[in-house]
Amino acid sequence: MAESVEKVVIIGSGPAGLTAAIYTARAALNPVVIAGAAAGGQLMTTTDVENFPGFPDGILGPELMQNMMEQAQKFGARLIYEDAVKVNLKQHPFLVETSAGNVFRCLALIVATGASPRRLGLESEAKFFGRGVSTCATCDGWFFREKVVGVVGGGDSAMEEALYLTHHASKVYVIHRRDQLRASKIMQQRAFSNPKIEFIWNSIVTEILGDEKVTGVRLKNVKTGEESVLPLDGLFLAIGHEPNTQLFKGQLMLDEQGYIVVDRFQRTSVPGVFAAGDCHDHTFRQAVTAAGFGCAAAIMAERWLGELEQKGYEAIKAEFVFKP
Ligand code: NAP
Repeated sequence: MAESVEKVVIIGSGPAGLTAAIYTARAALNPVVIAGAAAGGQLMTTTDVENFPGFPDGILGPELMQNMMEQAQKFGARLIYEDAVKVNLKQHPFLVETSAGNVFRCLALIVATGASPRRLGLESEAKFFGRGVSTCATCDGWFFREKVVGVVGGGDSAMEEALYLTHHASKVYVIHRRDQLRASKIMQQRAFSNPKIEFIWNSIVTEILGDEKVTGVRLKNVKTGEESVLPLDGLFLAIGHEPNTQLFKGQLMLDEQGYIVVDRFQRTSVPGVFAAGDCHDHTFRQAVTAAGFGCAAAIMAERWLGELEQKGYEAIKAEFVFKP
């Protein structure tokens, strides 16, 4: 078991965590990034990223993340491919323990743990998860060549998943609980003009049907109450995300939905702990805004470390007033 005291530890390796790593590394803070066993965050499961500035022809999500990792490492960030399983923010230096039993103590902590795909919460969904039910078309679309699939959701993710699935599947139903999409106009237009995509409006999935594999879903029209069965080979869920903040429950101030509460300087309710990206931001949730928040958190962490050196932790804590 390795144990060390670091100036900065960053938990998470999506755009927020890796941007924080680039900035803190370039500030000679020698950051440790607890990158997770599956490093790179949500963009690892997307295809083309067309709205990250600097790539006029778009860039593949995994390629963008690989570039960010290399850029962070080039400046000296150390990436640890383990999950953070425990934190203690009640003591300073803070403590972060990983899945491999490594313990890191740090003077400043940047939380960039992101968010995970939301599930419907049906019993049948748990039964078929990974066996016809998925939250990642890029990962699992290939299994549905010339098959019929459904996508639940009405946001950009649902449109993106549906459009991607048209490359493999013979037919894609988008099942949405309202009669209007939340997705951006450009994504709506692409989905509406794709002949393989059909929309089922005002409908929710109440059960996923099948024996060994998915054979269909039971739908309920929320306007009429009418129930029907739609035969399908697979179902993709694209209904938003839940913040990955369970680790911080009882230690950082969280809102009702579990997002970390921050002030406008990315400070959390614990002095010396900063948060960046989808773990606190439920408004923008873009790769570029996450990167921006990561940058801000890194700059604030650097300034805070200067203050720590001058005043000491107890004095900072005594005068800290959290104003979100
Ligand atoms: P989102 O915008 O929150 O959309 C979630 C969708 O799922 C909504 O249509 C919502 O319905 C539906 N939904 C939520 N819970 C549900 C439930 N229990 N049962 C059935 N439907 C449910 O999430 P997102 O699509 O993942 O997008 C998140 C953010 O990432 C957005 O800011 C989006 O713009 C961005 N994004 C951008 C791109 C792109 O630019 N290419 C791609 C992906 C994501 P209601 O509409 O009725 O609430």
